Amino acid sequence: MCGIVGILGNKEVSPYLLEVLKRLEYRGYDSAGIATIDNGMLVRRRAVGKLSKLSELLANEPLSGSSGIGHTRWATHGAPTVNNSHPHQSGTSVAVVHNGIIENFFELRTELLAKGVIFESDTDTEVISQLVNSYIGKSLTPIAAVEKTIPLLKGAFALCFLFSGEDDLMIAVKKGSPLVIGYGNGEMFVGSDAIALSSLTDKISYLEEGDYAEIKRKGIKIKNHLGNIVEREITTVNPSQVDTGKDGFKHFMLK
Ligand code: GLU
Repeated sequence: MCGIVGILGNKEVSPYLLEVLKRLEYRGYDSAGIATIDNGMLVRRRAVGKLSKLSELLANEPLSGSSGIGHTRWATHGAPTVNNSHPHQSGTSVAVVHNGIIENFFELRTELLAKGVIFESDTDTEVISQLVNSYIGKSLTPIAAVEKTIPLLKGAFALCFLFSGEDDLMIAVKKGSPLVIGYGNGEMFVGSDAIALSSLTDKISYLEEGDYAEIKRKGIKIKNHLGNIVEREITTVNPSQVDTGKDGFKHFMLK
């Protein structure tokens, strides 16, 4: 189990991505990373080990931008290395963070390899960014590329995508792994759970199985697994329900 965050913000987003990832530490992880859009370009930093390693890296090599995604990884396919850490980026067009497992990644990877696609990681996740990148390469819009990719994926996944040249767009997908949307004041958030977003907003909606969302600062369009536009209720989360402490346990996982 790992953690996902996405922010379309109105100030430098890196510190907020890190803060949310800290709130997701309790879920366990072996590596972490973030990507932002700096002057239209996707840029990322990833580190193995504790979030302090990622913080140190960012202190030395900061990332600018007010839109970003982040991830704490619990490796299922591929060792905990920098190359296997998320976000995964394919070409220059797309970066993705993924929680879960793509069960048919081997078949998809084999097909892509046969077409000459070059992989940079051993993860199941990278087939997702490679597929989306290949559709964008065929002139599909980001949302059309994601809509074409989702039905090809078997398994469990919560995903959050960021696209180069698209400072005001995130796409979130939920199937078999938890994902929530957070509503701010001219800002929008994605997180693995409400706890993660509790310092940013208490206005949350829970995506249902098969939902995917096109998120912009001014609003969100959610579709269900049939591609029909749906409304998901926005609830106000009580801060007292939010607890990210270790409660005397040495590790979050022991708790
Ligand atoms: N299966 C993916 C990987 O191994 C994601 C694991 C996770 O949920 O952290 O990279």
